Amino acid sequence: MNVHDSEQLTELLNGSGYERTDTARQADLIIVNTCSIRDKAEQKVYSQLGRYRHLKKERPGLMLGVCGCVAQQQGERLIEKIPYLDLVFGTHNIHRLPEFIARVEKTGRPVVETGFHETVPSVGILAPPEKGAVSAFVTIMQGCDNYCAFCVVPYVRGREESRRFHDILAEVKALAARGVKEVTLLGQNVNSYGKSLGNGHRFSELLRAIGEIEGIERIRFTTSHPKDLSDDIIACFREVRALCEFIHLPVQSGSDAVLARMSRKYASADYLDSVRKLREACPDIAISSDIIVGFPGETEQDYQKTLDLMEKVRFDTLFSFQYSERAGTAAVGLDGKVHPDEKRRRLIELQALQDQHTREKNDKLVGKTMEVLVEGTSRNTSRDVMGRTRTNKIVNFAGGNDLVGKTVRVRIVGAFLHSLRGEMLD
Ligand code: SAM
Ligand code: SF4
Repeated sequence: MNVHDSEQLTELLNGSGYERTDTARQADLIIVNTCSIRDKAEQKVYSQLGRYRHLKKERPGLMLGVCGCVAQQQGERLIEKIPYLDLVFGTHNIHRLPEFIARVEKTGRPVVETGFHETVPSVGILAPPEKGAVSAFVTIMQGCDNYCAFCVVPYVRGREESRRFHDILAEVKALAARGVKEVTLLGQNVNSYGKSLGNGHRFSELLRAIGEIEGIERIRFTTSHPKDLSDDIIACFREVRALCEFIHLPVQSGSDAVLARMSRKYASADYLDSVRKLREACPDIAISSDIIVGFPGETEQDYQKTLDLMEKVRFDTLFSFQYSERAGTAAVGLDGKVHPDEKRRRLIELQALQDQHTREKNDKLVGKTMEVLVEGTSRNTSRDVMGRTRTNKIVNFAGGNDLVGKTVRVRIVGAFLHSLRGEMLD
């Protein structure tokens, strides 16, 4: 989501005299787009801004700004902490960047804008994918109304608001016309798409409509809340050809007591039931998830239940985190804080189990032929290209740049933890 926000910022500055550079030293304008989901992410922002301090000293004309979730939460306090900042703007004000720059240029004084608007115009900015890109993000909704006890998102991104159905379709059609083959639909809880529109449009309908757009070979979406994964969405995995055999379905914990304290509104049995239905509808589906260890009150038994759930589901990949307390969230008031050493122990052990599962899953693919959409040159060597299977696995194989954007059949000849090695058949 933040990557997509940054793409929109770049698009906003197109034609206003600014051009992109990868070197901070050369820049006349630096905007740090921030995340505050965990304390670590927030601390990174402060050290990054610290590194820009000397640039600002050397060249006082350099304009330095902060946007995104940390900016939303801290507002004026950021200017007090970091007096050399010129711009602080929150998640609902991205579309106003050119106006803010003009104000700083005119007044020479910092601008701070962290208001929430009912509709967020930034979702209407069509951020074209980089030239030749085959894959693009499409925001379908903003904000979140779920208020999970650990999570800062509803406070920094505001209320849940879905984009209009026909605007989304028009954007996807425009992307297809530019050669984009794959779209990833973005929202904090895409499964509840349409609720705020009040006109009956649902997520499954959106998937079916995008599935009809010529040129769009692949549809992905993120993120799904398990409580809203309805049977009609699951049916799309069977019926919409372009919908990839992959779902990111964050479970957070395998203990019902912890899930209840997290306010997740499902039990582990409901989650397992959804996994069963998904695999029934789509036997090859790859499933990834998010898990938090050390949430307040999580006992050793609770933690063991999470490992049990992992054994039952066998995720393809997993993003796992130590619980990080976020100011203003409901979990701040909960008893039973888990010691940092214990959180670390649980995380290391859980990640070792997941690595074992990921390896087993990947090993089973050796010898299989898979459809790969080529995204670009491989990171390892320019003699190879990299692409993804429909199940979201990275595959590297010998080939030239002429393959970028093409869907090819690849035989898997090697498996690693984070990628596969293949040989092109076509
Ligand atoms: N909307 C998604 C959902 O419902 O699961 C998740 C959005 S959040 C940006 C991504 C992940 O960060 C969450 O699934 C959760 O595992 C993790 N996360 C959020 N708040 C956290 C916290 N306070 N401490 C540790 N991990 C956290
Ligand atoms: Fe945060 Fe996701 Fe829960 Fe919303 S649904 S509060 S974004 S974890």
